[in-house]
Amino acid sequence: MSEATETIFSKIIRREIPADIVYEDNLALAFKDIHPQAPVHILVVPKKPIATLADAQSEDHALLGHLFLTAKRVAEEAGLKNGYRVVINTGDDGGQTVDHLHVHILGGRKLSWPPG
Ligand code: 5GP
Repeated sequence: MSEATETIFSKIIRREIPADIVYEDNLALAFKDIHPQAPVHILVVPKKPIATLADAQSEDHALLGHLFLTAKRVAEEAGLKNGYRVVINTGDDGGQTVDHLHVHILGGRKLSWPPG
C-alpha cells in the first residue's frame, strides 16, 4: 500500500500554505481549486494521506463514502442546483498531478462529455 508522501495538499490541510477553504471536518477538507476549470471548481480531500484511489483499502470504506457525501454537501452549499460533475483523476493515465487523493467538484456551466 502506498501512502501519499508530502504534497501541496498536506500543507494546505496543516494550514502551512493558504487555500480558500469552504468546508472542514475531522476527516476531510474542501477548498477551491487554484486553476478552476469551471465557475465552481472545488477539491475535497481526505485528511488521511492516501495517494490515489488505487491505493484505497477496504479499511477506507467509510472514508470514501464520507468524501462523496461531503462532495454532495459542498456542491449544495455552492448552489449547484442544476447538477455538477464529480471526478477522481487516478494515476498517470487518469491525469492525476497531485499524489493525495482528491475529488473534483465541477459545476456552474454545461460540461461536455467525453473528457479528453
Ligand atoms: P489532479 O490533476 O491531480 O486531478 O488535480 C490537482 C488539482 O489541484 C488541479 O486542478 C490543480 O489546479 C490543483 N492545485 C494544484 N496545486 C494547488 C494549490 O496549491 N492550491 C489549490 N487550491 N489547488 C491546487
